[in-house]
Amino acid sequence: MSAASVNQGDNAKGDATSHNGLPALDIATAFPQATPATKFPPMKWDYYMFDDLLSTEEKFLRKKVQEVMEKEIAPVMVEYWEKAEFPFHVIPKLASLSVAGGTIKGYGCPGLSITASAISVAEIARVDASCSTFVLVHSSLAMLTIALCGSEAQKEKYLPSLAQFNTVACWALTEPDYGSDASSMRTTATRVNGGWVLDGQKRWIGNSTFADVLVVFARNTSTNQINGFIVKKGAPGLLATKIENKIGLRIVQNGDILIKKVFVPDEDRLPGVNSFQDTNKVLAVSRVMVAWQPIGISMGVFDICHRYLKERKQFGAPLAAFQLNQEKLVHMLGNIQAMFLVGWRLCKLYESGKMTSGHASLGKAWTSKKARETVSLGRELLGGNGILADFLVAKAFCDLEPIFSYEGTYDINSLVTGREITGIASFKPPILSKQSRL
Ligand SMILES: Cc1cc2nc3c(=O)[nH]c(=O)nc-3n(C[C@H](O)[C@H](O)[C@H](O)COP(=O)(O)OP(=O)(O)OC[C@H]3O[C@@H](n4cnc5c(N)ncnc54)[C@H](O)[C@@H]3O)c2cc1C
Repeated sequence: MSAASVNQGDNAKGDATSHNGLPALDIATAFPQATPATKFPPMKWDYYMFDDLLSTEEKFLRKKVQEVMEKEIAPVMVEYWEKAEFPFHVIPKLASLSVAGGTIKGYGCPGLSITASAISVAEIARVDASCSTFVLVHSSLAMLTIALCGSEAQKEKYLPSLAQFNTVACWALTEPDYGSDASSMRTTATRVNGGWVLDGQKRWIGNSTFADVLVVFARNTSTNQINGFIVKKGAPGLLATKIENKIGLRIVQNGDILIKKVFVPDEDRLPGVNSFQDTNKVLAVSRVMVAWQPIGISMGVFDICHRYLKERKQFGAPLAAFQLNQEKLVHMLGNIQAMFLVGWRLCKLYESGKMTSGHASLGKAWTSKKARETVSLGRELLGGNGILADFLVAKAFCDLEPIFSYEGTYDINSLVTGREITGIASFKPPILSKQSRL
């Protein structure tokens, strides 16, 4: 009898899985030579001392975020990523950072500089990309939409609690049939006595399975324009279910939302969203923030690799002693220095009122592409451990993929910048553009 058939016989009697029922070895016992990411490595990526570019306030915030992320969040993230569950107990720790609401002034929001806000995104993403997406959806999409497009009463009612993370928000634009082409959305808003009735479906909406406040976009059936609404958790006709089997950002609870005759009172219609163009006010800022996620992810991957190469020995020497490995590490370091400068310049353009949507789109597209290269090099450097979430790089590698595709895919953001620099929009195939002119 072959070994394989002996094992099959054993399995048939007992455990349905192929293992022997014993729990996996703790990673520290299984692989004693290198420290896993639950004990986060010190910051080594800041080779050109970019910290000098930050104000005292920005430096202070960066340190605070770094400390909380490394000490409180790093130890639990692999476990929750593997389970694809959200660690609700970390919300108070994230709240203690006082970053929700970012640049919004008043209404209990921190009123940070855009640079401080961006640095906090990077520091969160350095340790865990899912955590940074959770914060971004809540803060840079949902809260910012309420701040930029909401009435005074809506801002006073919703923002203070969201700023403290006492309530959580999501932002529902994408639909199953309309992703990159979101402006063609089909969810409708029909005027009725005292408010609106929403009907339709949304997909991919981060935080939506548990959000208290849902910012939902729908097409006004009278004007045919896109309007925005605040929908509350538990509204009759609203159903959000989790999208399973994601390979990246597994902690983020992305939902499919069914919206069946959901009534929204007049007071919850966002008065500043009267066309799809109005969402661009929000997207321009949030794309700057999203551009900092790949930067932060790359920083974390570099720091892990730097430590790993010094700890792990092969052929009688640390991996860091091999020329090929040093070149890869330096390549990663160079990418991060360039990415930081692009992200930083975007913030300065925004602060001086010069930033265009093309600038923001180029930043998001380019940093996500460079980060893909950076984390791939990191994955190679860690050998087999480069495919284990325990050593961060595999998790970061997977987390980067959805970031490459959300808030405008790499292609769509490139086309936004392309339109700006050429004056020619190329989103629709020429054949369709011609037909629409006929
Ligand atoms: C993890 C995750 C979280 C998300 N969170 C949210 C959220 O909170 N709220 C929300 O509203 N949405 C969210 N999204 C949706 C996200 O914004 C969309 O996935 C994204 O806009 C791309 O749409 P799509 O997936 O339908 O891809 P498609 O639009 O189907 O695109 C598929 C491919 O075709 C390319 N393509 C499409 N059109 C063109 C064109 N004109 N020219 C050239 N190439 C083109 C794209 O670049 C891409 O490579 C999330 C998505 C993910 C994966």
